[in-house]
Amino acid sequence: MKIREMLQKDYVTLSFEVFPPKTEANFQSVYQAAMDVAALKPSYMSVTYGAGGSTRGNTMTIARDIQDKVGVEAIAHLTCVGATREDIRQTLKELQEAGIENILALRGDRPKNFEGEPFIDYHYASELVEEIKAFGDFCVGGACYPEGHVDAVNKKADIANLKKKVDAGCEYLTTQMFFDNNIYYNFLYRIREAGITVPVIPGIMPITRATQVKTACALSGCNVPERFRNLVDHFGENPLAMQQAGIAYATDQIIDLIANGVRHIHVYSMNKPEVAAGIQRNLSEILK
Ligand SMILES: Cc1cc2nc3c(=O)[nH]c(=O)nc-3n(C[C@H](O)[C@H](O)[C@H](O)COP(=O)(O)OP(=O)(O)OC[C@H]3O[C@@H](n4cnc5c(N)ncnc54)[C@H](O)[C@@H]3O)c2cc1C
Repeated sequence: MKIREMLQKDYVTLSFEVFPPKTEANFQSVYQAAMDVAALKPSYMSVTYGAGGSTRGNTMTIARDIQDKVGVEAIAHLTCVGATREDIRQTLKELQEAGIENILALRGDRPKNFEGEPFIDYHYASELVEEIKAFGDFCVGGACYPEGHVDAVNKKADIANLKKKVDAGCEYLTTQMFFDNNIYYNFLYRIREAGITVPVIPGIMPITRATQVKTACALSGCNVPERFRNLVDHFGENPLAMQQAGIAYATDQIIDLIANGVRHIHVYSMNKPEVAAGIQRNLSEILK
């Protein structure tokens, strides 16, 4: 099933994200954790892609197995940094053969230790979106940044660029994490005003370890509200309490989104079945 069809339904969907193994040494444990998340039967799942193609085969294997072995629809992420047109066409052919119908098209970032020119045949995700749409019958999504992308000159320019991605054929958007829902509501208002009408799925990141805050925010440049900082200060040194508090905070964000009419929520559960299950449990009546 194409994700665009699911996004038209009049019920709440909750999707989870996992990442593929990066090395053969950790293949089994990472694979198993991804499958354990899938076993919770979310509405659909998405599987990340190592920029530069480092996890190409494993992204495909996990996405295919989530569909074939667990019966949950999967989105394969795909980045174009460091890729030639030929690389992308070959990957699209393999995705088609694996029965993957949904792709999240991304530019990606220059991988660490990458030598040479990272943007060869593609400079922006919008060009990848065009390539995928021309290649075959995929449903294509893209990323967006309620607080602005770190490379963007300003938010207005970022939204104008986002419009180009949607005009290129991007059918829905998933947001970068945010910890204050007002940032999402504000962003939604601004992009609707700019003529972007596709569904915008909020991406919620349950922070369950204090160290995660620093890494996540350094990478994304997202704002950490005082309410959240207090929680990390208070529970950060007690791993179980921090996990419980992080799940509760993410649940609270999701409930507020649903109460404000948002129907589709994506959770950056990564490969933590206990976190994904905790959120699902907290929403059991709401998701019925
Ligand atoms: C939901 C989500 C999932 C992600 N999954 C992955 C993953 O699996 N693997 C991974 O490696 N990374 C992933 N990322 C990170 C992403 O690859 C990086 O944030 C990357 O820096 C930007 O990718 P993009 O697709 O948003 O790029 P783009 O949409 O190309 O935007 C990148 C920058 O270029 C600017 N821009 C776009 N078009 C133009 C134009 N025509 N002219 C001038 N400027 C332009 C934009 O304003 C922005 O500043 C994900 C991010 C999100 C939010």
